[in-house]
Amino acid sequence: MEDLKKVTYLCDICNGPIEHHKDGNGQVYWNKGHNAEPVLDDGRACDTCNAKVVVRSRISGDELTVMKQFVAVLQIMEPENRKALIEYFDVQFVENLQQMVSSEIKRREENPDKYQSVTSDNADYFVQEEDDENL
Ligand SMILES: [Zn+2]
Repeated sequence: MEDLKKVTYLCDICNGPIEHHKDGNGQVYWNKGHNAEPVLDDGRACDTCNAKVVVRSRISGDELTVMKQFVAVLQIMEPENRKALIEYFDVQFVENLQQMVSSEIKRREENPDKYQSVTSDNADYFVQEEDDENL
């Protein structure tokens, strides 16, 4: 039989080590974490990602979309940043953020001149319009 404690798999969501689950005698009886469906079609999740991301993604269809987008964003981040982000992850926050970003994009598309200096990649400052002081 394979010695489970010698093998540590990596979580497909945060890329961190998947915890060894031990019995009352301290013997590792499971080292493969949790099924990451439906967030990932074919993947394993550590205890944290299972609780924070996978389980919650099974609750409703809308949240699943948000969760999948969240996991897609995680894939391009460094592992240590992934862990921190997962700890603070909140579905409502992501939904609010998406709404804010899409309304911001819409506002900029409708007023391209006003936001040009801010959105330019090489801008290192922007000048606030005078009427903004009243806000
Ligand atoms: Zn994980």
